[in-house]
Amino acid sequence: MARVLFINGGSEGHINPTIGVVQELISRGEEVVYFSSEAFRERMEKTGASVRTFDDQKFIKAFISGGRDYLLERINGLLLTADIVIPSVLEQIKDEHFDYIIHDSMFGCGRLLAQILKLPAINSCTSFAQTKESFDQMLEQLSLKIPTEIVKPIHDNFQSLTVMVKDKYGVEIHSAYEVFCNPAPLTLVYTTREFQPSGEAFDQSYKFVGPSISSRLTQENFDLPAIKEKSPIYISLGTVFNQAIDFYKLCFEAFGNTDHAIVMSVGNRTQISDLGEIPANFIVKNYVPQTDVLQFAKLFITHGGMNSAQEGLYYGVPLIVIPQSADQPIIADQVAHIGAGIELQMENLTANQLREAADRVLSISSFKKAVANSKESFRKSGGYHQAVDDIFEFKKQNHI
Ligand code: UDP
Repeated sequence: MARVLFINGGSEGHINPTIGVVQELISRGEEVVYFSSEAFRERMEKTGASVRTFDDQKFIKAFISGGRDYLLERINGLLLTADIVIPSVLEQIKDEHFDYIIHDSMFGCGRLLAQILKLPAINSCTSFAQTKESFDQMLEQLSLKIPTEIVKPIHDNFQSLTVMVKDKYGVEIHSAYEVFCNPAPLTLVYTTREFQPSGEAFDQSYKFVGPSISSRLTQENFDLPAIKEKSPIYISLGTVFNQAIDFYKLCFEAFGNTDHAIVMSVGNRTQISDLGEIPANFIVKNYVPQTDVLQFAKLFITHGGMNSAQEGLYYGVPLIVIPQSADQPIIADQVAHIGAGIELQMENLTANQLREAADRVLSISSFKKAVANSKESFRKSGGYHQAVDDIFEFKKQNHI
C-alpha cells in the first residue's frame, strides 16, 4: 500500500474524471489524501479518500486577479493561486509521508508541490493534452494578436511571479507551459489517442486512458423514471460558462411544444424563474445527474466541455456543440471532424438554426454510425481501470 497525495482545484470538470481513479486506487489498497474545495468534499469522501480542502473563495479571487481577457493573464492567475494552495497544503500534511503525487493538469499548482515535496509525479489531464511545442506555438500566435503595450506588462508580471515562487518556495519555473499544463513524468489523459488532436505527437509518457466515467456517488433530486421512455433531447452548457438566459429562452422557442421531450440544465447561477414560462415538454433544472440522463437521451446540445462531449459519446448520443470558451472550440472541431455531431456558433444563433440542426443530426444515419464508433473506442480504452494500471506500472518503474 502506498500513500497518494492528490491535488486538484475546485471545478466539476477537473474533479469528475478523478472519482473513478481514486475509487479504483483505494480498492487496490492505496491510501489517498485528496485536496480540493469544500464543495466536493461529499463526492470525494464517498470514494474512501481522506479529503482536505483549501479556501476556494480565496483561490478563485487569486486566479481571477491575474486577469481574464488573455490566456497569458490566466497563466499569471494560476501562479497567483500558489500562495493560497501551497502554504495550506504544506501546513495540512506536515509530518506526513507520501509515496507519490497525482495532480491536476491545470489547477492546484501540482507541479510546484511535487518539486517542493520531491515526490514522483503523475499529471491528471482532464482536457486534450498539449505538447510544449504546440502550446508555445499557440501562445505565440495569441500574443501576436495582442498590442505590445498590453502584452508587455503581462509578461513582466509573469517574470516577477516566477521570481516570487523561486524566492518563497525554492522552485524554478522555466516556462508558461509548466504553469498551464503541469507536465510530469507520467500524464494520464482521459481521452483516446484517436480523439486527441495530433495524438501521434505524444510520447509514451502520455497514457490515453479514455474517458473516466463512473458513478458520481451523490443523489440528485431528479425523476429519472419519468424520462426513461421518452428519449429526451438534453441541453446543458456545463458548470462554468453557463449564464445564458437568452440561449435558454431560444431553446424554448426552438423546441417548446414540439413532440420532443427536453431536459435542460441551466447551472446553479441561473434563476429558473427568470426564464419566464416553461413549455410543458421541458424539464428545467439547475443541475441534473448528467451521466444518468445521457443514458436515455437521443441528442445532446452541449457547450463542448471535454467531459460533457465525451460523456455524450460514451453513451452513444450524437452532439450539437455550441462552444462558449476555453478548450471548447477545439473539442467542437474534433466532434465535427469525426462526424459525431454538428458545431454551431452562439453568436447570432436562431431558434430555426437550432431546430434544423437537431432535425439533421436525428435523421442522418452517418451521425449515428460515427457516434457508435466513438462509443466503442471509448469503452474499449479502459478509463479509470486503465489509468490505475498505468499508475501501478509507474510505481513499479519508480520502485514505489
Ligand atoms: N454536470 C452534471 N450535471 C449538470 C451539469 C454538468 O453532472 O447539470 C457535469 C457533467 O457530467 C460533466 C461536468 O459536470 O462531468 C462538466 O464538465 P465539462 O468538462 O463538460 O464542462 P465545464 O463545466 O468544466 O465547462
